[in-house]
Amino acid sequence: MTTPNALSSIANVSDDTEFYTPMPAGYKPGKTKYVGVFGTVMSGLGKGIFASSLAKMIKDKGLTVAPIKLEGYLNLDSGTLNPYRHGEVFVLDDGMECDMDLGTYERMLDQDMSRLNFITSGQIFTTVLEKERRGGYLGRDVQMIPHVTGEVKARLRELAVATDADVVFVEIGGTVGDVENAYYIEALRELAFEEGPGSACFVALTYIIHPPALGEQKSKAAQLGIKQLIECGIQPHIIACRAINPITNKVREKVALYSNVPFDRVFSMHDCESIYVIPEMVRDAGLDTAVVDILGIADRVHPEAEAKAVATWNAYLAALRSAEDAVTIGIAGKYTSVRDSYASIIKALEHSGTKAGVRVEFDWIEAGELEQGGTAKRLENLHGLIVPGGFGLRGMEGKIECVKFARKTGLPYLGMCLGFQMAVVEYARNVCGMAGANSTEVEPDSPHPVIDILPEQKQIEGLGGNMRLGGQDVILTPGSLAAKLYNNAPEIRLRFRHRYEVDPRYIKQLEAAGLTFSGRAPDFPIMQVLELPTAVHPYFIATQAHPELTSRPLRPDPFFLGLVTAAIKHRQAERRASSKPTAQRSAERDVHGKPAPR
Ligand code: GLN
Repeated sequence: MTTPNALSSIANVSDDTEFYTPMPAGYKPGKTKYVGVFGTVMSGLGKGIFASSLAKMIKDKGLTVAPIKLEGYLNLDSGTLNPYRHGEVFVLDDGMECDMDLGTYERMLDQDMSRLNFITSGQIFTTVLEKERRGGYLGRDVQMIPHVTGEVKARLRELAVATDADVVFVEIGGTVGDVENAYYIEALRELAFEEGPGSACFVALTYIIHPPALGEQKSKAAQLGIKQLIECGIQPHIIACRAINPITNKVREKVALYSNVPFDRVFSMHDCESIYVIPEMVRDAGLDTAVVDILGIADRVHPEAEAKAVATWNAYLAALRSAEDAVTIGIAGKYTSVRDSYASIIKALEHSGTKAGVRVEFDWIEAGELEQGGTAKRLENLHGLIVPGGFGLRGMEGKIECVKFARKTGLPYLGMCLGFQMAVVEYARNVCGMAGANSTEVEPDSPHPVIDILPEQKQIEGLGGNMRLGGQDVILTPGSLAAKLYNNAPEIRLRFRHRYEVDPRYIKQLEAAGLTFSGRAPDFPIMQVLELPTAVHPYFIATQAHPELTSRPLRPDPFFLGLVTAAIKHRQAERRASSKPTAQRSAERDVHGKPAPR
């Protein structure tokens, strides 16, 4: 059955038409359906988490899904954003630096994203302005409608073509009413009109306030927010109400009445223990079937595929809930007051904890505070330590102190990017005897610049070179700890975001002193993984990459799983030791049962 739509008239455009709808080659009208997710009342509702859970539900039914985030800001990507304000910069395999929501999509869907899945206003306006300079608008004045909105629609349809998606999930950044995203909302209105009835499902995420002083849920702000969306020409089909507690039927009735949405399509999306429980919540509430009905895609659903996916996910949730024992992992960073700047690390540890059967507790260590001493005391209760990625000078010496403590006491250590570089600096200074060794990012005049700007970028860019971004192959040394973690894979792929690296001139000296570089780039002398032999330290490993970005709930990243497993052993050794007399305990205090390296 073909649905009547406006596309046929648009296809016959002439020079003076009011329509502007560039169609990517190969676009099949009717094949791809669209789900638009809008936020009302306030930001921070977890739109990305909600949209990705919904997309997962549809993917679990055997359909192909493609999420896309539309950001209102003018930056071309998220590369220059301060993680302290915006959360972590998530790097995709193709090198795109984007919003942390893309990480949520990759993890929830267990699917790699690309630059097609991320739009900013900066990208849209750049395309429009470049096209204008090339004379691409046939002598017309270039307008927000239809040209800018036309470009947005083109990007959505390009994604549909590139992924052959059954359903494209469009998350509009910000809140309805923001100036920045108004044209995205308009583009979706136009898209739904052009594609015809049954082609788009609009979901409004809203918030039900529960003022403690009143002791009851209030829906007025939600009503007004949805009204504002309707004023933009978007009639939501589904309303999902975020709230602290499950929303009452009275509130659901009010919201339904004021927004032309049937009562059973107003859902409660109250707070829950873990974001990975949300898909289950979405399914139990029947939200997924509502989407299938609205889009008329019941004939594309594969019940057997769904049963299998649900069973796998439920097993994961059961493991997540059953973990009782805990290990404490310290994270020595700079932005430790804002957890969003380490979102992927938190998730990677959660995935690994679930797999290893423990809860992971986090101890956030402001590395700068250790520069006056007291490292041993501050770190004494940890079972594992991470020094994560970072930029700038603050807290570097504190991080080096942390690495030293972990290296000398046998505390399991995982360094990432900057944490890898600081491990090299620490080893150079304290084992190889290179006083003043440093990264030139911190100390440009260091007598031993063991970490320096990438040689190939020095040639290309001069000082300051661009970052090495995205997925790169890593050759692992057979028999190394890294290779063991990855099931003896000879080559793996990790994601990178760095400007500095180990200066190849120091590799020999560092290796002669006992540090092993067990992961290297295939074509350049770029050191990508380092480790200490397991005979010397139970778990001391670091990578120039960001393995946290590629950890998935059902496939935890091996570096993290290795850390959590080593942390469990460390805790067991500690428990054994604490049941012995004190004198014996302090004699064993260095590396558990193993001689400490120098
Ligand atoms: N600042 C370091 C560099 O540019 C580390 C980067 C990072 O940790 N992501 O190489």
